[in-house]
Amino acid sequence: MRGLYVGRFQPFHKGHERVVDDIMDDVDEVVVAVGSAQKSHTLRNPFTAGERVSMITKALEDRDETVYAIPVEDLNRNAVWTTHVRSMCPPFETVYSNNPLIVRLFEEDDVEVRECVLFERDRFSGRVIRERMRDGGDWRALVPDEVEKVVDEVDGVRRLRDLDADDY
Ligand code: NAP
Repeated sequence: MRGLYVGRFQPFHKGHERVVDDIMDDVDEVVVAVGSAQKSHTLRNPFTAGERVSMITKALEDRDETVYAIPVEDLNRNAVWTTHVRSMCPPFETVYSNNPLIVRLFEEDDVEVRECVLFERDRFSGRVIRERMRDGGDWRALVPDEVEKVVDEVDGVRRLRDLDADDY
């Protein structure tokens, strides 16, 4: 059985990692859909789809279960988004989300949706991590070691600061 977990993962952090580990208790394989794949180089979406795929693949490569990280671009039409997701991903039976729109769209498509709550939400938050990168705070403790390496490899902190300087 395969489960789908959708997010933007800007960046993939320890809270997301914990959600994937919890999903693995339920299913044999996990499909991580990297949403808003067309977005990058903005304060809210600093990392490209390829960079996010690399973060997720490396952070989870030591797991026994197979994880597929698949970029999924946004669509202007919510009504056909689930079909779009299906067209990009390996087949899945269950969706894990607590995003109300995603729950609604998959339930209307007769897919089983299970709640997944982010671990230590106050600490592990994409927004907090991006702010710390920009402001010089400690973001490294909030992401898996492999994600830290990807951010450094692409000079991600400098990118965020340059975007901020341009007031995007
Ligand atoms: P999001 O917009 O990336 O995140 C919304 C908020 O939920 C963020 O603060 C996020 O925190 C948080 N969050 C993520 N996983 C969570 C969890 N397990 N428990 C509690 N909070 C969680 O939304 P998303 O749900 O992560 O990603 C949805 C993706 O689907 C987006 O890329 C969206 O554009 C796409 N989508 C597209 C369409 C369309 O194109 N028509 C329709 C539906 C959805 P973090 O920042 O810490 O992750």
